This record gives sequence, C-alpha cells and structure tokens, in this order.
Amino acid sequence: MKTIRVSLKDKSYDIRIGKGILRRINFRNFGASQYAIITDSIVKNLYGRKLQRLIEDQRLEVELIDFPAGEVSKNWVEAGNLGRKLAKLGFDRDSLIIALGGGVVGDLTGFIASFYLRGIDYIQMPTTLLAQVDSSIGGKTGVDIPEGKNLFGYFHQPKEVCIDIETLETLPEREIKNGLAEIIKYGMTQDRELFEFLEKNIEKRNENFYLRVIETSARIKSRIIEHDEKEKELRKILNYGHTIGHAIEGIKGYRGITHGEAVAIGMVYEGKISSELGFLKRNDLERQNKLIDRAGLPTRYKGNIKGLLKIMKRDKKSRNEKLYFVLPIKIGKVKTRKNQIAFPVKIDLIRKCLLN
Ligand code: NAD
Repeated sequence: MKTIRVSLKDKSYDIRIGKGILRRINFRNFGASQYAIITDSIVKNLYGRKLQRLIEDQRLEVELIDFPAGEVSKNWVEAGNLGRKLAKLGFDRDSLIIALGGGVVGDLTGFIASFYLRGIDYIQMPTTLLAQVDSSIGGKTGVDIPEGKNLFGYFHQPKEVCIDIETLETLPEREIKNGLAEIIKYGMTQDRELFEFLEKNIEKRNENFYLRVIETSARIKSRIIEHDEKEKELRKILNYGHTIGHAIEGIKGYRGITHGEAVAIGMVYEGKISSELGFLKRNDLERQNKLIDRAGLPTRYKGNIKGLLKIMKRDKKSRNEKLYFVLPIKIGKVKTRKNQIAFPVKIDLIRKCLLN
C-alpha cells in the first residue's frame, strides 16, 4: 500500500492507495462513535453492503444510506434529505461519514459533512477512476443548482482518502475513459514522465498501470492543493481543457457526454489555441491529440459554435472579449508568469480554433 500525505497544517490527511484495502480497513483506528456510509444505488449493491458488514464485524455501529445514482441526485434537496436522515439517526460530532462511490457521492457527501452540525468528519472512498485521481482529493464539495453546476459548496477537507483499485474491476469502460482524460491532463500540464508512460501503456491497462497512474495523479493534485487550497491561482492549472469542456457539457445539458469526454475535446482545442499563440509546438499538440484518441476519447466538437462561445462568455464572465486559459508550452509544462497560470485569449482566436 502507498501513502501520500497532504500537508495542510491542522487539516492534513493521508491518501492510501492499494489493492483490496476496502476489505481490510480497521475502522477502530478512526475512533468514531458511529459510522454512516453514504453511497449511490449502484455502488451500494457492489461494495456498500460488504463495507457495512466489515464495519459491523469490527463491532462498530454503522448505517448504510443510499440515493439514486447519477448527477441528478447532486442537488440541494437530496443533500437536505440525507442530512435529515443523519439527524433522525442521531449522528453527532463524534460520528464519521464515509463517502463510498464516484465523484457524485464524494461531492454530495462532502457537502453534507461540511454543513451537518456546522461540519463533521468524513472520509473519501472513491470507486471511479475519475474520483480516485481527482474529485476525492482537495476538499471541494458541492451540489448543482438550476443556475449552474457546483454553484453551492464549501472547501471541506476529508480526514482520509482510501483508494482501492479493486473497485475498478466493475467500472464500465466508458467510466474508465472518463478518468483517463484527467490523467492525460496531469501529464500534459505537469508531468512529462507520466505522459510518456501513458503513451507506452495506454492500451495495456493492468493493475500496475492503475497503481502507477493513480499514485502519480494523487501526488500531483496533493502538491497543488498544498500550495493553493482555495483556488487563488495555482489550482487553476487543473482547469486545462475545462473551459471549453464545461461549455460542451453545458450545451448538451450534461446528457449524452461524460465529463472526461468533454475535457478531452477541450484539451484538443485549448492545446490548439496555445499552438496558434506560438506557445505549444505542433508536434507536442499532435502527440497530445494522438494519446487522447488512443485512449478512446473524442477529439472533435461537431455542434453549435456560437452557442458554445455564448456559454463560455457567460460562465467565465468574460471581459473585453477575452477568456482566460491555461496554456501548455510543451508536454508537462504550462505557461506561467510570476504566479499567474491562466492567460487572456481573444474570443476571435477561440472561434477560429473551434471552426477548424
Ligand atoms: P459518478 O459518481 O456519477 O459515477 C459514475 C457512475 O459509475 C455512476 O453510475 C456510479 O454509480 C457508477 N459507479 C461508481 N463506482 C463504480 C464501480 N466501482 N463499479 C461500477 N459502477 C460504479 O461520476 P464520476 O465521474 O465519478 O464523478 C463525476 C462528478 O465528480 C461530477 O459531479 C463532477 O462535478 C465531480 N467532480 C468533482 C471534483 C472535485 O474536485 N470535487 C473534480 C472533478 C469532478
């Protein structure tokens, strides 16, 4: 088992990565008075009941609480209902909440943990690749509201993150690709070695592949969080591919496309913008696009460009016909100036890149 420390003074915590750790955890080490596993309707049957039995076998009090799987559940009303369940069951400040599932479970459960009794402890047990390399680390919690995704939320760091790669065995291929997009993003923006490892191994994804890429991604994300917990500037590096990616998800009403697929397309166009500005070399852009394609992710946006630009301008509150982008200058490195990570790009250039 590998352990990565996220150093955030009194909010520091460990990320543990291994195979089969969900079957072996000693919950007595957490020392809580009672435990609540919050999960979705799919993960409940795959891992929720097993985890509940493991905790019961350790003679500890545990409740298994679930909600319907999917992004639609990541809302204000569901958060309120789950919080009320905790209250009815008598959960207090000495209790521990366990978020078992993908990013939806992690964001929603973390959100509840941040407001229930003005904040109680929770741990993340991510079961999708996306959650293991990204959403379970960093303490961003939240829910969607009709006005936009993740608009209500808090920064609330977990007490621990336990990543069991065994859970990936049941994860559908499309969800694996969803996580691969974020891993390619880490390689492209911060780690040339990771990028080259992906180039060599993207088709042979075995246990060692997952252990290596999850550990590297978790380390990269942890170091960013340590320097910029609340997204003042450095954390924006994680947004590469996301400005255009979010707009694509938005225009499709978050249906029919995964977050990773949208980010993959976003990286292709944002990489192109960087190349047009003379930062990213053509050859590195082509390598990025080839890797995205080999991962089985889409590389082209074929929809309405005017609508896409409108969403981007609204979401990012564009000023002077410019939007801000993270711009790679070569594989593993982005443009920076002093502490600045995101740079203004004229809408005309963005339109031009989206058009061809
Ligand atoms: P998800 O949680 O909806 O999971 C995808 C699907 O996989 C669900 O149907 C789920 O039930 C199923 N599933 C989960 N684990 C499984 C397993 N081991 N085997 C089989 N099926 C399994 O989606 P996601 O992609 O994990 O997360 C997306 C969410 O993460 C979005 O809401 C996004 O906003 C959020 N997110 C948050 C952050 C952050 O920093 N907090 C970062 C990135 C994304």
